[in-house]
Amino acid sequence: MGLIDALEQGAKLTREEWRHVLTKRNKEIADVVFQKASAVRDHVYGKKIYIRGLIEFTNYCKNDCYYCGIRRSAGASRYRLSKEEILSCCESGYAYGFRTFVLQGGEDPYFTEDRMEDLIRAVKSEFPDCALTLSVGEKSEKAYRKFREAGADRYLLRHETANREHYKRLHPSAQTLEHRMSCLAALKRLGFQTGAGFMVGSPYQTTECFIDDLQFLQEFRPEMVGIGPFIPHHDTPFAGEEAGSVELTLYLLALVRLMLPCVLLPATTALGTASENGTMKGILAGANVVMPNLSPQNVRGKYLLYDNKRNTGLEAGESLALLKEAVSTIGYEVVTDRGDYQSLKGKK
Ligand code: SAM
Repeated sequence: MGLIDALEQGAKLTREEWRHVLTKRNKEIADVVFQKASAVRDHVYGKKIYIRGLIEFTNYCKNDCYYCGIRRSAGASRYRLSKEEILSCCESGYAYGFRTFVLQGGEDPYFTEDRMEDLIRAVKSEFPDCALTLSVGEKSEKAYRKFREAGADRYLLRHETANREHYKRLHPSAQTLEHRMSCLAALKRLGFQTGAGFMVGSPYQTTECFIDDLQFLQEFRPEMVGIGPFIPHHDTPFAGEEAGSVELTLYLLALVRLMLPCVLLPATTALGTASENGTMKGILAGANVVMPNLSPQNVRGKYLLYDNKRNTGLEAGESLALLKEAVSTIGYEVVTDRGDYQSLKGKK
């Protein structure tokens, strides 16, 4: 456990040390790592679990990421929500107790900078005590500045993989790791609480890719990190590939919690889809955020990034009581709170 303790104390592990941590994993080691990660999370955030209301407002996308079920070339039945529909999702979410809304979508050219700005202002003026997170992909720094000035608080843009060769195997050549990373840097400069992250078990991913991811996260210090298993979608080039491992996803979540004690770390929908108790397992491995779905019922079945994506039960905004109950049985509490990033200042 020497390396795990060193990580917890802020050490930068060498590649060789990371390789050891990643490849020598067994159930006993993983259980200890989960316990340590849980203790770190409890120290920073107590027993609180933050919720975010996820509004998947468009599944149009100009990109063609090989893994994604709403890629341009996929035959998804397309939709986009109107401003009124989005505000009505927020309204029901507010009544359930959500104080953060996440607007997520494909890179849809219909949502120009101006339309996004208008949408952000509308949400922030109707729900001034709520945080607004955007997850709409790669934009110019000018656009990001506009969004920030309009009141958006946070931005999720998974880096997907910090390994250049791997990035190329997951995306067409027009999409580059350099550009993705420059977007992340711009978001941070502009003062967004910024989220990076990656899938676990995507095709061609190796231990070396994970080392790149972990070293990048340690250096970049995002306020949020999204990690979920890759799950194949039938209408993508990766249709026949295997899904990522739930156990490895949990282990990586725990390592990230140890490395970035204050990080806002979701137990992702993909984790909840890949494993029956994925959300609870994620919390027990150090996660402190859950993002139930607030999209209108008639579009939920269309935002399918991967096959069998869950949007009922614990994954549904309107079933928050179920989530509260499940979370309380493991000793945690779903709270009505914006759930902003906290720093350790004054806590040590
Ligand atoms: N377009 C925005 C972007 O690129 O950041 C936001 C939407 S994108 C669909 C959200 C995330 O879904 C991606 O960052 C990716 O990691 C994840 N995702 C896409 N396809 C997936 C799959 N087959 N399995 C698991 N996660 C997937």
